[in-house]
Amino acid sequence: MRDWSFVLFRIPKLKETTMKTMIRRTILVTLLLALSGLYGATRATSFYRVRWVDDGDTVVLADGRRVRYTGINAPEVAHEDRPAQRFGPEARDFNRKLVYKKKVRLEFDQEKYDQYGRVLAYLFLQDGTFVNAELVKGGYACYVFRRPNTRYDSLLLRLQREAMAKRAGMWARFPDQGGPFLGNGHSRRFHRMACPFGKGTSPKHRMIFKTKYEAFWAGYSPCKQCNP
Ligand SMILES: [Zn+2]
Repeated sequence: MRDWSFVLFRIPKLKETTMKTMIRRTILVTLLLALSGLYGATRATSFYRVRWVDDGDTVVLADGRRVRYTGINAPEVAHEDRPAQRFGPEARDFNRKLVYKKKVRLEFDQEKYDQYGRVLAYLFLQDGTFVNAELVKGGYACYVFRRPNTRYDSLLLRLQREAMAKRAGMWARFPDQGGPFLGNGHSRRFHRMACPFGKGTSPKHRMIFKTKYEAFWAGYSPCKQCNP
């Protein structure tokens, strides 16, 4: 009779070796995947080309998304129904020089979209330049407080104060008449004294600014309705 015992012994041996190899391979593949994941995350591969620059705080990406810069507000350029605001064209030109046809990385705060469906983001160039901050630094945009998107508020307000002190950009010839103004410490907006929206400010949040400059320095932004 033939001895088949070698088969009985060999098969489990083979299996054991195969299992070990498989386990080793699985570990290796898992490690490689984990490493490539880490690599990808640190390299921040998601950069998007800027296709169009609307104005000082809004761009369109190559994939069609319209992005509104978080935490800042640049003066408007002319639209069909209204003229440009003071320093609007300069802000758009500066923004264009900064990002047009460049690749940008988007960083999100608490809210990813605004009421118009635009993406809300902090933009960074490939060399690490923080676009929103550059605009404030040059006096091309103001810092705007908007809860709950407050990640870079202290940086942006500090840069705005530096720009104001240096009289950079729009702060060079800042028209400052028509005061005093009523500030709302909750919304951090300031109004003309007669503005109906300002009148609703609760006494504990009310404050008076002698000048617009003072209001901006404190981190307040002008009310969209009364446009102080
Ligand atoms: Zn108002």
